[in-house]
Amino acid sequence: MDFIDLKKQQSRIAGSLRRRLDAVLAHGAYIQGPEIVELEKQLAAYVGTKHCLACSSGTDALVIPLMAWGIGPGDAVFTTPFTFVATAEAAALVGATPVFVDVNPDTFNIEPESLRRAVRRVKAGERPSPGAPSGLKARAVIPVDLFGLPADYDALNAVIREEGLLLLEDAAQGLGGIYKGKKAGSFGHAGATSFFPAKPLGCYGDGGAVFTDDDALIEVLRSIRVHGQGTDKYENVRIGMNGRLDTLQAAILLAKLEIFEDEIVARQEVAARYNRGLEGVVQTPKIFSHSRSAWAQYSVLTDHPADAMAKLKAEGIPTAVYYPKPLHLQKAFANLGHKPGDFPVSESFSKRIFSLPMHPYLSAPDQEKVISAVRSAVRGKADPR
Ligand SMILES: *Cc1c(COP(=O)(O)O)cnc(C)c1O
Repeated sequence: MDFIDLKKQQSRIAGSLRRRLDAVLAHGAYIQGPEIVELEKQLAAYVGTKHCLACSSGTDALVIPLMAWGIGPGDAVFTTPFTFVATAEAAALVGATPVFVDVNPDTFNIEPESLRRAVRRVKAGERPSPGAPSGLKARAVIPVDLFGLPADYDALNAVIREEGLLLLEDAAQGLGGIYKGKKAGSFGHAGATSFFPAKPLGCYGDGGAVFTDDDALIEVLRSIRVHGQGTDKYENVRIGMNGRLDTLQAAILLAKLEIFEDEIVARQEVAARYNRGLEGVVQTPKIFSHSRSAWAQYSVLTDHPADAMAKLKAEGIPTAVYYPKPLHLQKAFANLGHKPGDFPVSESFSKRIFSLPMHPYLSAPDQEKVISAVRSAVRGKADPR
């Protein structure tokens, strides 16, 4: 059994994948070929934003808007410590200070009320952590659609409007998710996603995209993507980067986009079957009527995850831990001066979480095998909820 099965998907799209790749090999425009514009159009239409910028990775999709907004030294960027490192790394890469805010115990996403308090403390001139600079300017928040579930954007938008912040949605895991009728990637001033192969929409290498409705912003994003170019390639009006997506990766994504919505629907069935089989055995992810998760991961909480994972491994079932150490306790962010206990929800998740195989092609019999293995692993061990 695979944790994420990309082979079944590949055989399903084999025909259109081959046609798409052959087209690129025939025209030879490996950089910024016509597939890039076609992909950007299709992705913007899917997500429901005016613009989309295809770029080199999910990390760069976070960095490029921060650069465009001129966020840098002296600025505070709020996010959670319970995410992939790239979210906070993007803030640090532009020279800003990541300010961590704990997550909601039911959703794994940033807690809007804790965000408001953290923003007000920074605005009052307090240091957000002992190692952080004082006098930071509150600039932006990066909520993460963790495991595919969009964050609580109504509550977050209220905070960012009141506090005058920019919102950069980290939808690296969220593409295909929905919150109150709107697609993930479309929230805030800009949204970022990743096409890392294991993400809900993955290519066969690195890739990412930025979404926005802002006509002025998209021009700056395009410029930054190609070394800060002006009206032509050899006019440089700002510092940018090489942030392009390969044409071949765009071709692969176009083939995958044809079946993407269908795959997201299939993931709902897989998640629902897990929830039915594991309710009360481990703490299963909440399913909300107002939103749809993209189910990038199916993660459960239990007091004895190592035992359960060992038992599953013995039966040939792969598992993974996202994330074994919250970012505020990582050496990379040691300069911020955090200590254990600063973000109790995130810390408790790190000790109690593990993820089960999840992909659109997971069969019911395979899922039953996973469910009975989890059940027998935790049998006899008291588990709250
Ligand atoms: C994967 C991921 C990223 C980074 O994407 P890359 O394409 O690997 O650079 C950023 N944020 C989150 C939450 C992710 O899961």
